[in-house]
Amino acid sequence: MPLIDPFNRNIDYLRISVTDRCNFRCVYCMPQEGFPVAEKSELLTADEFIRLATIAVDLGITKIRLTGGEPLVRKDLEVIVGAIAKLPGLTDLSLTTNGYILDEKAEGLARAGLTRINISLDTLRPDKFKEIARGGDLPRVLAGIRAASDHGIGPIKINCVAMKGLNDDEAADFAAWTKDEDIHFRFIELMPIRWNLDETSGFDSLSAHGGNGLIQLRQTQGSMLSDAQMRRMYISAEELRNRIESVHGPMEPAMVKTNGPARTFRIPGAKGTVGFISQISSDLCAQCNRIRLTSDGFLRPCLMSDGELDLKSVMRGGASDEELAALIRHVVDHKPERHYLAQGQKVTGRGMSQIGG
Ligand code: SAM
Ligand code: SF4
Repeated sequence: MPLIDPFNRNIDYLRISVTDRCNFRCVYCMPQEGFPVAEKSELLTADEFIRLATIAVDLGITKIRLTGGEPLVRKDLEVIVGAIAKLPGLTDLSLTTNGYILDEKAEGLARAGLTRINISLDTLRPDKFKEIARGGDLPRVLAGIRAASDHGIGPIKINCVAMKGLNDDEAADFAAWTKDEDIHFRFIELMPIRWNLDETSGFDSLSAHGGNGLIQLRQTQGSMLSDAQMRRMYISAEELRNRIESVHGPMEPAMVKTNGPARTFRIPGAKGTVGFISQISSDLCAQCNRIRLTSDGFLRPCLMSDGELDLKSVMRGGASDEELAALIRHVVDHKPERHYLAQGQKVTGRGMSQIGG
């Protein structure tokens, strides 16, 4: 029996956050000092992730993505990848990473059975990289992308959070990258997912500076973008596409098999593609096929709603596989129909790095 939710959506995709730790502090994701992290003993062990993934795949999950936090900082990631990659019934295993230590890890991950990867990258300018990610450095991320490709992990998708005034001026540069390389570039809408830090607490202003259209992030310690700031930095897929087409000419529709809800295009003759994922402005909820397991063992039916069920305590309390399967079904049975972010819904509770983006 497949996992069908009350709105007739087939839930076949599980995102697993393997850690809430991260070596970056992206301005839209977490404050400079980071969020408080769970005690190590509260994080699921590799065996616990593998057990829950096995039960989920038996129930009808066919696609799993490992994420975080930064999944590469988890030392036993290869063990988790190796076991999940072998699950009969799983057709797709992928990983989302900031790419910072990917050059060291790509070979081991490929050997363990990882075949697909998404790397997050919001700018091709080293200074701006430091301003946005507040950790790591651009050359190493680029080296990580090359290492993944060299070890046969592909297709390589690059996810870029589009931010008006901050990186929208680079849209055509990113698209240029797809001309000669088999890279699938996707612009993602900024999601105001962590609203409850007051606008005035962190970035004292966001203003155009120097006439070059760049937004200056004047930061004070401990800051991240607020809900209101993120909403002001929204830029539509249409606008980004116009910027790309004004430099590279009209793009043509393209297909990438594993591109999920992205609308995908190609510069004529290019090896790679350019996609747009509009999870706020378009209603992607109708096609949502996901549930999410947090690094501390809670199963969530929706990124944008706070409901979640504690599988870890039940599992550590001695629950059988059948009991855990029933709880997974229960979460699917309570998946909300949609989010209301475009209508002003404010998401409280955990941030993106704590849930698993
Ligand atoms: N650390 C890894 C990374 O950055 O790829 C994996 C976890 S991260 C939470 C997953 C994705 O969520 C990244 O592509 C990141 O850019 C995205 N993300 C985080 N906060 C976001 C926000 N407020 N709006 C849109 N995307 C966001
Ligand atoms: Fe870390 Fe990813 Fe969040 Fe950036 S987006 S702070 S890399 S978890």
